[in-house]
Amino acid sequence: SGDGAVVVAAVEAVADRIQAERDHLTDLDSAIGDADHGGNMARGWAEAAEAVADLADPDAQTAVKTAGKTVLSEVGGAAGPLYGGSLVFASQELEGGVTPETAVAFAETYLEKVQDRGDASVGAGTMVDALTPAVHTFKKSIETDELPPLEALTKAVAAAEAGVQFTVPIRASKGRASYLGWRSVGHQDPGATSTLYIMEELLAVAA
Ligand code: ADP
Ligand code: MG
Ligand code: MG
Repeated sequence: SGDGAVVVAAVEAVADRIQAERDHLTDLDSAIGDADHGGNMARGWAEAAEAVADLADPDAQTAVKTAGKTVLSEVGGAAGPLYGGSLVFASQELEGGVTPETAVAFAETYLEKVQDRGDASVGAGTMVDALTPAVHTFKKSIETDELPPLEALTKAVAAAEAGVQFTVPIRASKGRASYLGWRSVGHQDPGATSTLYIMEELLAVAA
């Protein structure tokens, strides 16, 4: 027990960042969706921050699982189950605490769950476009290049940023944006954008 303090700090940082970006996320979702991504995410992550703050000396797995459960129940739409359900599922990888190895396993399991639930591959114009290159870069940086975790996370954030930009020129084929057909071209995906913000906050807390 006790190694969850960094998770609690990360969830609080994510809640603050999402709140600060709430209107921007809403604007992105109003262009190609139903204008609720900012509000949904801000409410859900604020509740998640409160929930993890209420835990007494939690371990990392419990803190992540609690945050995920709260996001799952408070964030509606597509993003709630994708973010919340995947966090709950991937939290099992942190049973032995947070190490570079368990962090890679967590990231991979999280990505697998998002892909299972949403059935979106890279190029469908979703959060998967930011998440996939980020997770692959993180894994390679840790396992192959043997970089320190902070450098690996820095590279993963850069990969997520490129993934967000990749959603702009492509036509969405999953989620609400796909209803627009070719009119989704030229728009940045809100869920890819919020995924980047979350990763940036993980890096800020880890640094
Ligand atoms: P909703 O579209 O139900 O209103 P949100 O606005 O909260 O939900 O979230 C929209 C985001 O969810 C999109 O920008 C996209 O990144 C992500 N998304 C939607 N459908 C999928 C899917 N099938 N797979 C992965 N991500 C998806
Ligand atoms: Mg929406
Ligand atoms: Mg909605």
